[in-house]
Amino acid sequence: MFAVPKPPVIVWFRQDLRLADNPALGHAAQSGRPVVPVYILDDHTPGPWAPGGASRWWLHHSLAALSGALAGLGCPLILRRGRADVALRALVRETGAEAVVWNRCYEPHAIARDSTLKADLKAEGIAVDSFNAALLAEPWTVKTGTGGPYKVFTPFWKAVREGLDPGRPEPAPRHLATLPTPPDSDRLADWGLLPTRPDWAGGLRDSWTPGEAGARQRLEDFLARAVARYPEGRDYPAQPLTSRLSPHLHFGEISPRQIWAAAQAQAKTQGSDGVDSFLRELGWREFCHHLLYHFPFLSERPLNPKFEAFAWDDNAGHLAAWQRGLTGYPIVDAGMRELWATGWMHNRVRMVVGSFLVKHLLLPWTAGQAWFWDTLVDADLANNTASWQWIAGCGADAAPYFRVFNPVLQGEKFDAKGDYVRRWVPELAGLPDRVLHQPWTADPITLRTAGVRLGHDYPHPVVEHKAARQRALDTFAAIRDDN
Ligand code: FAD
Repeated sequence: MFAVPKPPVIVWFRQDLRLADNPALGHAAQSGRPVVPVYILDDHTPGPWAPGGASRWWLHHSLAALSGALAGLGCPLILRRGRADVALRALVRETGAEAVVWNRCYEPHAIARDSTLKADLKAEGIAVDSFNAALLAEPWTVKTGTGGPYKVFTPFWKAVREGLDPGRPEPAPRHLATLPTPPDSDRLADWGLLPTRPDWAGGLRDSWTPGEAGARQRLEDFLARAVARYPEGRDYPAQPLTSRLSPHLHFGEISPRQIWAAAQAQAKTQGSDGVDSFLRELGWREFCHHLLYHFPFLSERPLNPKFEAFAWDDNAGHLAAWQRGLTGYPIVDAGMRELWATGWMHNRVRMVVGSFLVKHLLLPWTAGQAWFWDTLVDADLANNTASWQWIAGCGADAAPYFRVFNPVLQGEKFDAKGDYVRRWVPELAGLPDRVLHQPWTADPITLRTAGVRLGHDYPHPVVEHKAARQRALDTFAAIRDDN
């Protein structure tokens, strides 16, 4: 007698591309039913928030890694393309699945799609379970004394940390039951996620190892090598003293719970230097997700409505100079070129280039948000949006309007020896430190000795700092006073 096979459970992978500490996958594995893991490339993300070029590159490699890991358990990853709800329902019909599980996403369009889908599937008798795999504290669990959302980081983080026990991360399942014949799957290579003409991803390939194993390795290296020096070192872009876990976190190749547990274990055995400071940055990630959940318009509109009428400039030439790293301000240009080459930029420099865009150039924060969205491998709707609004002064806990980063002083303070600028702006490498961050002040002999012809090898500044600062102060003050 053959046993009648149990109907399978579908595990819908989204931003949780890992096997370990994956509650939806763990739930499916424990059910003892055959597991059908699926990833759906949804071409119907509303608005401009379909993955950008750098994110698509990462996604390709992350899916390849996940697919390999699942194949190791004898359970092939099914790839489908199209409207996620339609594709998922088709797979339910094809496989006769009676249960679907997923880990929750928090972008407004994902919440809307998932809640409708959940209700519809349940109405058709399909069991649906969703889980938290991405946050230490889901947005609706953290409330101010009056029951509302937080808009200031420090009390938010205090409230999250109080009594926080994320629990122990779950190991990857050691076994998955499978269907005798897996459903049809697209071929990853046919999705065209990788750039071809031209192939601009060489710098990304050299910089990153997408996938769960790469994420684990990054965390181990960071904890062993850098976390103790993180509080002082995290502001110096030439020093590799931050974790670079951001793309791994965005794609869910590692969970904040795993990071939390590893950091706490490290604090117990090796000492706690730097651990709190590092976990606080994870707190900013939580805060950004909290904000986007409670203010779902955030990616499109300023949190402070006064900014809706802000008199932004629209100088296309300035925007292009900023995007290409040709503003004439070395620290700004170094950051923009690091971004273009590697898909990542150091946080200190993100703040400097962001401030330069919205204050010196008076270009809208949404232009910076869109460029970062396309070029960052860690592009994340919550983190990117909230950070840009913070820089522009229109978001939560925002930088005061009169804070205008001076790109020369920022460079001299955080890249005093010029290693960062020399790496990313090699045409200035021969300049001495004293003029490296303001080459226009160098005398002709110094410039000639360094082989720099301003206006030929490297641009003159696109705006003059003092005048640009004053213009920003005047424009921002007008919005502040215009009650
Ligand atoms: P670490 O210093 O090692 O921090 C650990 C983790 O904490 C990060 O991986 C990240 O997940 C989180 N984190 C750290 N700083 C922040 C922060 N300020 N806000 C939110 N989360 C934080 N981060 C993104 O992940 N995606 C984005 O699209 C993004 N856009 C940004 C845009 C601007 C204008 C600015 C100023 C910051 C942006 N950040 C974004 C936040 C921050 O710059 C990056 O998370 C950080 O540089 C990633 O490097 P890391 O992993 O080495 O960080």
